[in-house]
Amino acid sequence: MNPTFAYPRHFSPGLFRAGLLDWFAEHQRPLPWRTEYTPYAVWISEIMLQQTQMDRGVSYFNHWMERFPDISSVARAPEDDLLKAWEGLGYYARVRNLARAARRIMELHGGVFPARYEDILALPGIGSYTAAAVASIAFNADVALVDANVNRLFARLFDIDAPLNLTATRNKIVAMARDLLPPGKAREYNQALMEFGALVCRKKPLCGRCPVADQCESLRLGITAERPILAERPDIMHVTVATGLLRHPRRPEELFLQKRRDNDVWPGLWEFPGGCVEAGEHPEDAAVREFAEETGIIVRVREPIAVIRHAYTRYRVTLHCFWCEYISGPADNPTLTEASAFRWVPENRLTDFAFPAGFRKLVDMLDKRPPLSRGVS
Ligand code: SF4
Repeated sequence: MNPTFAYPRHFSPGLFRAGLLDWFAEHQRPLPWRTEYTPYAVWISEIMLQQTQMDRGVSYFNHWMERFPDISSVARAPEDDLLKAWEGLGYYARVRNLARAARRIMELHGGVFPARYEDILALPGIGSYTAAAVASIAFNADVALVDANVNRLFARLFDIDAPLNLTATRNKIVAMARDLLPPGKAREYNQALMEFGALVCRKKPLCGRCPVADQCESLRLGITAERPILAERPDIMHVTVATGLLRHPRRPEELFLQKRRDNDVWPGLWEFPGGCVEAGEHPEDAAVREFAEETGIIVRVREPIAVIRHAYTRYRVTLHCFWCEYISGPADNPTLTEASAFRWVPENRLTDFAFPAGFRKLVDMLDKRPPLSRGVS
């Protein structure tokens, strides 16, 4: 018996493995990286699918592989091109780490993705989960892999009555996944666990279709709805933000954009100047104040454009957007306090740039305006 845990009395490791692998052979989804299991494709899919729905992830994956078909194309690509291809997926540090890892693979491994778990783990932006995913799925190495789906499945299967966010709970599940891993079959077994958790033992489990139901302790006890035990959700934070769009004083077809700094949230993405509305402040005044603080350019609000609402992690953001008018200040040599670079960009080229989600909605809205209303604020 493993010293860190004991399986329930009714559980048979052999029957569980067989039921799971048979189910996967018949029901696995035909995902694009499952055709050849190249390490590059598996790596990209794993990074993209973290925090992203599968349908959306597949669409981004296909577009990415057309644009950057191999490691060297990522290593050579300008950062703005990578960010643009990633735009909308969020967690932008990932794509920058991906570029750093690609360059490291070119330098240290001659452009060939390393096969050893330790070498994969040493690449920038790759943690233990992604290293285990690439090692097991691309190289079929005997490494256990536990994602949120597997955590949920095991919590029900083994009636684990402790919250999943506890390190001890996670360590126990990893130990069980490792113990159950059939040697030489990590590619199928790891994917089967995750796929089964995503499609059958999902948030509302489909126990009537479960091929391992007779192995499931929480089903036997009639408490599947009470497993897993979840950590308390953090409070939702509501934030009000204002931003200003400014036309160049002599080239009115061009709008001011600035690039977010490396140590900010959404590093490297582009935005219009703006920031949080302070207590008691009107959003119009906040847009004017933020423009001056972030660029040294003095503007006044000409008219409102839209109020855009979006959510990320635990934040709910209300973004007030205004057309602004140039008053004074260094339009061609702004004093950037919150950005690493600036550009005056023709309005019809805005969609070439990568923006955080709220600004993306604004840019898409401007892009859909009828042609006659463009270029005139
Ligand atoms: Fe999940 Fe239900 Fe199967 Fe148990 S019986 S493993 S809860 S799908």
